[in-house]
Amino acid sequence: MSEAKVLKKMKIDEALNTNVWDVDHKPHIVVDYEKCRKICDKKICTLLCPAGCYTLTSGEILFSYEGCLECGTCRVVCPNEAVTWNYPLSGRGVQYRYG
Ligand code: SF4
Ligand code: SF4
Repeated sequence: MSEAKVLKKMKIDEALNTNVWDVDHKPHIVVDYEKCRKICDKKICTLLCPAGCYTLTSGEILFSYEGCLECGTCRVVCPNEAVTWNYPLSGRGVQYRYG
């Protein structure tokens, strides 16, 4: 069966579960937690990151870059420029199996 046919039959969660990561030792996204804490009320990153890298615990943002899908959403939606975003080192990061 071709990859396109396989993908058509897969749900998004199933396709994402086939991804693998070669995690960069250096964080490719750095969050300025001071801004999160002091000037951000909506914390929209916790709602829009498709990988769930941003979580809210006791009112504090926790960020983990290891499962990042490199979509760039957090950089675009953060209203406070709290996200410093770079691609991981060449060859590192997420490897998509089905696009
Ligand atoms: S939207 Fe930006 S400032 Fe607000 S919690 Fe997320 S990263 Fe921090
Ligand atoms: S780049 Fe995408 S997947 Fe990675 S942390 Fe930002 S929103 Fe989440």
